[in-house]
Amino acid sequence: MRGAVLYGPRDVRFEERDTPTIIKPADAIIRVSATCVCGSDLWPYRGVNPIPQPTPMGHEYCGIVEEVGSDVTSVKPGQFVIGSFFASDNTCPHCHAGYQSSCQHREFIGTAQAPVLRVPLADGTLVATPDVPSNDLVPSLLTLSDVMGTGWFAADAANVKPGSTVAVVGDGAVGLLGVLSAKHMGAERVIAMSRHESRQKLAREFGATDIVTERGDEGVERIKELTNGVGADSVLECVGTQESMMQAIHATRPGGAVGYVGVPHGVALDGGKLFYGHVHLHGGPAPVRRFLPQLLDLVWSGKINPGKVFDLILPLDQVAEGYRAMDERRAIKTLLRP
Ligand SMILES: [Zn+2]
Repeated sequence: MRGAVLYGPRDVRFEERDTPTIIKPADAIIRVSATCVCGSDLWPYRGVNPIPQPTPMGHEYCGIVEEVGSDVTSVKPGQFVIGSFFASDNTCPHCHAGYQSSCQHREFIGTAQAPVLRVPLADGTLVATPDVPSNDLVPSLLTLSDVMGTGWFAADAANVKPGSTVAVVGDGAVGLLGVLSAKHMGAERVIAMSRHESRQKLAREFGATDIVTERGDEGVERIKELTNGVGADSVLECVGTQESMMQAIHATRPGGAVGYVGVPHGVALDGGKLFYGHVHLHGGPAPVRRFLPQLLDLVWSGKINPGKVFDLILPLDQVAEGYRAMDERRAIKTLLRP
């Protein structure tokens, strides 16, 4: 088969790789219906996280089960399944606590930009849809593998409640789906921070009530102005830079909460600022497996349509253009069809 391999900065190739097979009895092999490029794939793509050798890419996937190992009982060939970017057993203490992305036996799934994928710990990782979905549902189902679950976790970690005032830092796909999540959880006011017109439009569609174009201290000032000097109850940090993290902490009212899901790059927190900030901080790699059944119901019943974040759809063999378009911010998120 042919799949995506990153060779170095801005060098993604579509090339011959071994077709995965069952290695362990808990594995499943799936025929990928759709995969995509993640904002976090851009860190190694831009050379910010250097890679030691040519590296297969992709951690978001959904598709049809082709084969299962002898231990697998919860999914079977022919079913359409979605799984998290971390395989998890869903039985250990961390999984029981709802933190499957910290599973004691977790394995990162990093070869999904390909037509065939091996998923370890299939019973704990994969969730089957009620039926094989129609094509138009596939983009929204694909988002449940990472980006939608991550936006939802940001809102959950930031303690969004009915009536809350929420601010979202970051207008990438995760931030936009954080807006959708906050709205769905009953937030009364959702302030999206974005400078890009097309992203502002989608944020409004997903439920944003206000848009703030300023950044850093000015962005914080603007949020204070919009909340009578108080700050937001919940702030979703969906970028991962020093500026975005401080923007999130400073825009939160005393007693409020920050949910941070942007993978941190060079973020250092000042103890004194944390002490006097008086805010709750919770985040990390989203345990999307916890939310999968609930979010699957919401997509299946048409209550949410997170697949709208895909504004570029390409055949998998054009994966390099998919990365370029996101790197140059011409696309919010690229869906790839094998
Ligand atoms: Zn576990």
